[in-house]
Amino acid sequence: MSHAKETILVTGGAGYIGSHTVLALLRAGYDVVILDNLEYGHREVVENVLKVPLIVGDINHRPTLDQLFASYNITAVMHFAAYIAVGESVKDPAKYYRNNVSGTLTLLEAMVAANVKRIVFASTCSIYGMPQQVPMTEEHPIGPINPYAMTKRIVEQMLSDFDRAYNLRSVVFRFFNASGANPEGLIGEDHNPETHLIPLVLFTALGKRDSISIWGTDYPTPDGTCLRDYIHVSDLANAYLLGLKYLSAGGKSEAFNLGNGNGFSVKQVIETASSITGKEIKVVECDRRVGDPPVLVGSSEKARNILSWYPQYPDISNIVLHAWQWHQKRHGSNK
Ligand code: UDP
Repeated sequence: MSHAKETILVTGGAGYIGSHTVLALLRAGYDVVILDNLEYGHREVVENVLKVPLIVGDINHRPTLDQLFASYNITAVMHFAAYIAVGESVKDPAKYYRNNVSGTLTLLEAMVAANVKRIVFASTCSIYGMPQQVPMTEEHPIGPINPYAMTKRIVEQMLSDFDRAYNLRSVVFRFFNASGANPEGLIGEDHNPETHLIPLVLFTALGKRDSISIWGTDYPTPDGTCLRDYIHVSDLANAYLLGLKYLSAGGKSEAFNLGNGNGFSVKQVIETASSITGKEIKVVECDRRVGDPPVLVGSSEKARNILSWYPQYPDISNIVLHAWQWHQKRHGSNK
């Protein structure tokens, strides 16, 4: 392949979305180096499945970055390393600004110093805040309502300023609810603690939890539960690849939403999981969770038009099926 000798640095490559993207990069013929502090990333995924060089270190540590750029002929960066827990970011914003903002600033400075001028950045739809209309486009007003989302928003601003000043071009992906797992069961979602709906529902099916709580059944939605735009992690990974190619072809800095354009309710997710697993999933209906918008659905038309990105697994049943195959393998189905 023509780009076989390109080496991409993937920060957070031992994590959920990062590892799926590394797999996509490898299959497209790129070389990859991972930088991950392994606080949440999984060494065994890198060593047993991805089999690429792993630098264990922090994005906030400039000497590590300088050493890395000096040792490998890196042509572009994919940046996933970040803390992602909204609740924790409210309780301990310093931790989030230190890592997500200051760490990214350190990374960008090291890139400029090493003359690496392309980055694909993992942002989030939560920078839009409470949706004013759905599906949300990239034109939707920006208004983060928690420190986590604010850190992503600040990095987007830094990227735009770095482009103007230093010619560092970026593709920013604002993704909706990343979910699912590699369809072949090689890698999947493995957060600790786990807070996301689909894995928690599947843990219930596996008997690792007694029940799943539905947070709010009185929303103004067809069945009263929240609608979310679940997007398969392999489709996200493919978008990152297309974003990289777009930058390599000289594309200018852009931000893109990545979602399915379809919302699925919490109850639909649980029903899908119940039919795929063939298990009864005990549900407990609870009060609303503070800060949850009733509907979060994105328009990905811009990514379709400019990047020719089309989700391969837009259906919620494939997303849940692949997640189920992974969790069965990871946690066993003997309970
Ligand atoms: N949710 C729920 N019970 C749970 C976890 C999540 O009812 O145990 C709901 C949550 O209120 C939201 C949806 O499931 O409407 C997706 O939540 P998740 O945490 O997976 O992603 P978020 O949309 O918060 O980023």
